[in-house]
Amino acid sequence: SLYRADPARYTGMTYRRSGRSGLDLPAISLGLWQNFGGTDVFETGRAVLRRAFDRGVTHFDLANNYGPPPGSAEENFGRVLATDFKAHRDELIVSTKAGYDMWPGPYGSWGSRKYLTASLDQSLKRMGLDYVDIFYSHRVDPRTPLEETMGALDHAVRQGKALYVGISSYSPEMTRRAAAILKDLGTPCLIHQPSYSMLNRWIEGGLLDALEETGIGCIAFSPLAQGMLTTKYLNGQPTDARAAKGGTLKAHFLSPENLERVRALDAIATRRGQTLAQMAIAWVLRDPRVTSALVGARNVEQLDNSLDALKNTAFTPEELAEIDRHAVD
Ligand code: NDP
Repeated sequence: SLYRADPARYTGMTYRRSGRSGLDLPAISLGLWQNFGGTDVFETGRAVLRRAFDRGVTHFDLANNYGPPPGSAEENFGRVLATDFKAHRDELIVSTKAGYDMWPGPYGSWGSRKYLTASLDQSLKRMGLDYVDIFYSHRVDPRTPLEETMGALDHAVRQGKALYVGISSYSPEMTRRAAAILKDLGTPCLIHQPSYSMLNRWIEGGLLDALEETGIGCIAFSPLAQGMLTTKYLNGQPTDARAAKGGTLKAHFLSPENLERVRALDAIATRRGQTLAQMAIAWVLRDPRVTSALVGARNVEQLDNSLDALKNTAFTPEELAEIDRHAVD
């Protein structure tokens, strides 16, 4: 069916500057890790992407291995880029990554220049793009000199295959080292992509300070803790939810302790007049050093619900203190 982007798409979204760069990102970005693969229904994902763009979501986050099968999320996104989003390439920030297992043999994973360079070429082909806006090192490779991995990111920019570069899940110490290497190379690090939610606050232990010092932005992945920060697991396990698919949301995560936390946090959200998902997103954005909350969505209803988080992002000190009592520290 024909898609015409909503002319009012830039009226409801907030944009935040990524660190000390020239790039704004939407306060809420959409990731295609799950729900957009070859085993998912293409038209459902397509409707989510259209809706996101219609509501001012200009940033879509991918990686070489997203699917399943690996690569299929990029292929599906490429189909949408070639059709619905064809006239809008310059309104979009598309990111991809390399770092996890992608193809067999010694050159299909981790952080060598060989792997990163080949993987980006493959990603561009799958998406039908000349360049991505952000290319990431998806994880630290302890067996490869950091200079080589950062050199490969810099090389991607010099080849015109990426406009900016980023790192994901790097420790504060490795982030500082990566930032210094990239600065010397003349390709500043735009952004760091760490996990962050009310159930996972590791970035408060030094990473956010490192990012502020080095001028790097922060895009927080899994702000809903993969769907745990919703009410869906409070009365058993729905068969259509992520935990039932036996994949990345591990059963031990749904411990009685965590579910008690979720129940208490949901009561706070209800008093604020929003869903727990909405409060979880607003909460990660309470720190101005967090540029964007990177959510996933299985359908348009979830996406709409999450985007409505922006209707109430203010917290009183009392609310924050109460959340601290239940959130993981
Ligand atoms: P979330 O924490 O936002 O979890 C998304 C899931 O939560 C959905 O698939 C859905 O699960 C549920 N959900 C979403 N919105 C709502 C809502 N409003 N109400 C109720 N349930 C909702 O993020 P993800 O874990 O999906 O990660 C988001 C993105 O972050 C990824 O797509 C990827 O781009 C990035 N990422 C990066 C990683 C990295 O290593 N750099 C690792 C992981 C993610 P359900 O199907 O159960 O309903």
